[in-house]
Amino acid sequence: MKFISTRGGECVTGAQAIAQGIASDGGLFVPETFPAVSRQELEEMLPMSYAERAAAVLHKYLDEYDYEGLKGACEKAYAQFEGGDPAPLVKIDAGLYILELFHGPTCAFKDMALTLLPYLLRTGCDLCGIKEQVLILVATSGDTGKAALEGFKNADGVKIMVFYPNDGVSKMQKLQMSTQEGDNVNVVAVRSNFDVCQSAVKTIFTGEEYKEELKKRGYILSSANSINFGRLAPQIAYYFSAYLDLVSSGQVEMGEEVSFAVPTGNFGNILAAYYAKRMGLPVGKLICASNKNNILTDFIRTGTYDKRREFFKTMSPSMDILISSNLERLLFELADRDPVHVRLRMDKLAQDGVYTLYDDELEKVRQLFWADSCGEDETVETIYEFFEEYQYPMDTHTACAMYAASNYMAQHEKESAPMVVVSTASPYKFPQDVMYAITGNDIKDSFKAIKHLNIATAMKVPVSLSKLRDKPVRFTTVADKDKLFAEVLKFIDNK
Ligand SMILES: *Cc1c(COP(=O)(O)O)cnc(C)c1O
Repeated sequence: MKFISTRGGECVTGAQAIAQGIASDGGLFVPETFPAVSRQELEEMLPMSYAERAAAVLHKYLDEYDYEGLKGACEKAYAQFEGGDPAPLVKIDAGLYILELFHGPTCAFKDMALTLLPYLLRTGCDLCGIKEQVLILVATSGDTGKAALEGFKNADGVKIMVFYPNDGVSKMQKLQMSTQEGDNVNVVAVRSNFDVCQSAVKTIFTGEEYKEELKKRGYILSSANSINFGRLAPQIAYYFSAYLDLVSSGQVEMGEEVSFAVPTGNFGNILAAYYAKRMGLPVGKLICASNKNNILTDFIRTGTYDKRREFFKTMSPSMDILISSNLERLLFELADRDPVHVRLRMDKLAQDGVYTLYDDELEKVRQLFWADSCGEDETVETIYEFFEEYQYPMDTHTACAMYAASNYMAQHEKESAPMVVVSTASPYKFPQDVMYAITGNDIKDSFKAIKHLNIATAMKVPVSLSKLRDKPVRFTTVADKDKLFAEVLKFIDNK
């Protein structure tokens, strides 16, 4: 299977697409065609474990990777998840389910891909004949950095360095990163906000002089962010697995459609659901849920993407986003894979901050998606109501999706297929907000809130979070934004 750029300039193998991350024309890599999964293949996947299902889906795209190798890597990655099943489906009510994707090492859904990415990346480099060590640089506002550190810790042939804004992450997130284990990891706080931190890291990625300097030392740069196809591919697998679980437990008939509601930020998670549909999985509507930052809701309803608006900080920070980079892959499909249109829109977005779809494209969007946004009060109310009614505690991001799913089901009673709400984080990752929503108690300390939330809900506290309190802090460096490359060199020169 070959991969092409959404902007038309490049055609590479899957291994190259993953090793490179982004196309050299600035576009995103997409598969040349969508590999089909037949009804018979779906039937054959029914008795498989999660890791086997994931390997089967991945191998459809990454056919130059060895299947047994992929399977072994999936087994190793998902063995790190707590509780046996890496993606359990919980029945909430008739026709309403929650797909829990937060049982990985950092308690957020990014673990589903980032536990596997090191294998996909290193093997991709090997397949391409890249001999250098890989240096991963990440600028993070919280969740991605920790998930990437956990995924890449002690990975062969890879080093990872994470930069976060010193005043821009939660106490819990800072603690998660500063106590990170592993011989090949480094974490640096930057005296700035996230945007400055991100652009300082981007400077390193785009500067030839930096690449030269690293090459001399035997390193190439790579990135672990969500536009890498190696992040997208493992996410397609859990839509298949959720569907198969519904079939094997007799809740839906093979072939019957199932809808998914997804809390959306960068559009990576929900795009994976769309890819699953294109591969032949019987997917009904895709419910795109936003928080108060409702740019995607407006886009799906009106066809106009307009980033000229106020940015809000919310209690679902991983969805606080104005530019959803993975949307470019959907635009490519909407335009019948015409890269000229994609380029026009991306240029327009960069220059004017806005673009509008053609009518036929908007019609396609409406066929596929339905969108809603959930404000701060609605987030709190949804967590409260679902806990009252079903004793199910959910996190602030999941609540946005549940809110949108409820509204969709209320408005489409007759046609509603079974609905799976995708849960992207453990409630213990945002213990103060969830505790406040459920009990009205405003607790200042994260660990105290975890304890009280455990008493209130009887839900098990994830081991990785309960251990955090007693872990030694390993990383304390705080750097100015123009000193980041010096920190990189210190790290790889082992000073
Ligand atoms: C990253 C993240 C999201 C958003 O996912 P996208 O793929 O960027 O749309 C939602 N919830 C949580 C908890 C996340 O960490």
